[in-house]
Amino acid sequence: MNVIIIGAGTGGMCLAHGLKRAGVSVKVYERDHTRTDGLYGYRVGIDPTGNRALKECLPPELFDTFVATCARAPKYLNVLTERGRFTASFPLRDDHDPVNSERSVSRMTLRQVLLTGMEDVVEFGKEFTRYERNADGTVTAYFADGTSATGDVVVAADGTNSRVRRQYLPHAQVKDSGVIAMSAKVAVTDETRALLPREMFEGLSMVLAPRGKFCIWHVMEFKWDRDGAVKDGIGGNEAELVEKWPGLLYDNTRDYINWGFSASVDKYPANVMDLRGEKLMEVALDMTRDWAPNMRRLITLSDPGSCFPINIRTSVPIDPWTSTNITLLGDAIHTMTPGRGVGANTALRDAMLLCRELTSGKPVVEAIAAYEREMIPYGFARVKDSLAQNGMNGDDALHKPVIGRLMLAVSRAFFSVTDRIPALKRKFIAAQYAYRGAE
Ligand SMILES: Cc1cc2nc3c(=O)[nH]c(=O)nc-3n(C[C@H](O)[C@H](O)[C@H](O)COP(=O)(O)OP(=O)(O)OC[C@H]3O[C@@H](n4cnc5c(N)ncnc54)[C@H](O)[C@@H]3O)c2cc1C
Repeated sequence: MNVIIIGAGTGGMCLAHGLKRAGVSVKVYERDHTRTDGLYGYRVGIDPTGNRALKECLPPELFDTFVATCARAPKYLNVLTERGRFTASFPLRDDHDPVNSERSVSRMTLRQVLLTGMEDVVEFGKEFTRYERNADGTVTAYFADGTSATGDVVVAADGTNSRVRRQYLPHAQVKDSGVIAMSAKVAVTDETRALLPREMFEGLSMVLAPRGKFCIWHVMEFKWDRDGAVKDGIGGNEAELVEKWPGLLYDNTRDYINWGFSASVDKYPANVMDLRGEKLMEVALDMTRDWAPNMRRLITLSDPGSCFPINIRTSVPIDPWTSTNITLLGDAIHTMTPGRGVGANTALRDAMLLCRELTSGKPVVEAIAAYEREMIPYGFARVKDSLAQNGMNGDDALHKPVIGRLMLAVSRAFFSVTDRIPALKRKFIAAQYAYRGAE
């Protein structure tokens, strides 16, 4: 069997590792020209589902390198008001378990880890344009540079705007969620560190504000310092892996605070998607006028070069289709809002499952049908959950003035009560971990 994967992103590379380890002939065709192209600055939360897939598909040392190159895991899940008052603070489990842990990784770092050791598998500068089915059952993929590749199986791992999906399942649509987000990074310095209370600095914090405004705060503290040298107190094995990790040479990731603000489209100036840097930071400051001064100060101290807008999109679920030797994974089939932070994790789950099926010995189409029977329901369920969470649906009443206030009061009351009653608190935390695949 000869497998062609379109797209060297999170899901595509996890699958490629798994197939390569199983001895399957696999090639990945990536649009970017080098392994360092693209904007891969932000943080991705890898949950037990994602850890499990990476552990199963990656060579053991590479999985250890992934763990060693993650940022310190968050210790708390905090819920705050826009004035900076804590509504709730839930302690999270430590990250010593390789699978049942929550991890924070820089997207660029994860990309470097996933591309390591795959020089013979990945071809860069290959922008997929279309495919053709051949009389012998194989499929030929064509690229913008005039070249082509033929395989027994084609896997679309080419993200939200998947060209494979457009040709294969033209009725599958991706639509705007009606929400726009803005994100930026702030370097960790003595000044910026002092602006966050300890639980916020050590945790992952969600600010729930009136009229559906929402902001998430992450702090990324890595095991290496500003010059790339391993920090004091990092254990022997991890220090060794960080030091010998080849991808580190390409990475400009240093400790930072990351904020991601979102609100429904009608709250923004009409040209927001054209704004970048300081102009966009001004929009964020304008939309948070009555927020806590320390949060606004952090917005002011952001690196303008890291500030960009994101038009949040979501798939429209479709009915199952008849399986063939072309299939899809990750955002290519189930793009979801970042509402539950599970897009990458679901792409990784797809990769693990598809790898298992393709190496199960079943005939190819039967294996793909088994994968799709499982992937379609959980994938679109995640799409639905992610749209319903944290104001990610612009049509939600949460974004309206009066009813929105009421809904905000109800959700704050829920978090506050859950935080205060130990049995509810334990149940809430267990439910979060279960949703994210912990055993
Ligand atoms: C701000 C933000 C925060 C997020 N945070 C989280 C989080 O905390 N946890 C989480 O689980 N998810 C998160 N996500 C979602 C996550 O990033 C995606 O769901 C995940 O990257 C999807 O992986 P993928 O492999 O399907 O696609 P991608 O990783 O997007 O990879 C697609 C690849 O295909 C390539 N490609 C595209 N078109 C072509 C073409 N025509 N030919 C060849 N190659 C092509 C691209 O260059 C890219 O390399 C977040 C998303 C955003 C926007």
